[in-house]
Amino acid sequence: MGNRFDISVVAENEKVGDDYIDLAINEIKRIESLISSWDKNSQTSLINRNAGISPVKVDEELFQLIKRSLKITKLTNGAFDISYASMDRIWKFDGSMTMMPSEEVIKNSVKRVGYENIILNEASKTVFLKLNGMKIGFGAIGKGYAADKAKELLQSKGVESGIINASGDLNAWGKQPDGKDWMVAIVNPLNKDKVFSWLPVQNSSVVTSGNYEKYVKLNGELYSHIIDPRTGYPSKGILSVSIFTKSTELADALATSVFVMGVETGLDFINQLKDVECIIVNADSKVITSKNIELKPPK
Ligand code: ADP
Ligand code: MG
Repeated sequence: MGNRFDISVVAENEKVGDDYIDLAINEIKRIESLISSWDKNSQTSLINRNAGISPVKVDEELFQLIKRSLKITKLTNGAFDISYASMDRIWKFDGSMTMMPSEEVIKNSVKRVGYENIILNEASKTVFLKLNGMKIGFGAIGKGYAADKAKELLQSKGVESGIINASGDLNAWGKQPDGKDWMVAIVNPLNKDKVFSWLPVQNSSVVTSGNYEKYVKLNGELYSHIIDPRTGYPSKGILSVSIFTKSTELADALATSVFVMGVETGLDFINQLKDVECIIVNADSKVITSKNIELKPPK
């Protein structure tokens, strides 16, 4: 997924462990070739190529992923929207952008963003993007989904403990070989050596979205790779969001959503959800946590 996956498993010996890791890698590759909008042969690319033209029949797995994505869109009032993707013709985070796009261009492009134009047909399992030039992408949920599926597969093979870390989208199950919980370090996004706190991860996920890894600098300002679907502009005001919850997929999507919502709305939103917590670092490097998180500074 253009992303680094780190996989650790607890096993009887190295050979067995390696075999488990291979299984997980294959599962992640399988998912990538189904859902990646970068892979021209994926079903997602087929959907995108047929925008404004015709519905495309897809596998149940992709259909369900799109359905869940739309549910998250409703839950987040449109902050999370897989149809943000047509904006990637305007905002490029690979170093190729040199100029601020004009207001006109952005206004024109954001017309093609909007979940209400993603049409699902439950009976025929088809997906239709109503507008010409529309595009969907799973950049904010796919890694989490893949991490959940890899974990699920390993658990089904009897692996009792492990960690899947998809470039910062992490899930862990079981315990370390010495019986202790897996721990995750919450770091200052501007200084990764500075740990705010260590937190245990007990059969759950931690996902961090930040604008410090993928961004473009124009006229001295940083623009993050997270796009506000309502304006077509990159969202601002937050350095990083970490979400803690059971499902990595949900955590992935919510981290992106809170980024778009901003500190106040985002925090309020997370505090209304059961079994979901967050840590936000705002633009001034101030750390803000949801109701049930207590940060213990490292000794
Ligand atoms: P990271 O890649 O740092 O883990 P995220 O999980 O937050 O970050 O995903 C950001 C990616 O999600 C972007 O690179 C883009 O592909 C996609 N994206 C950007 N804005 C939105 C949005 N509003 N809704 C859904 N996906 C988005
Ligand atoms: Mg995300």
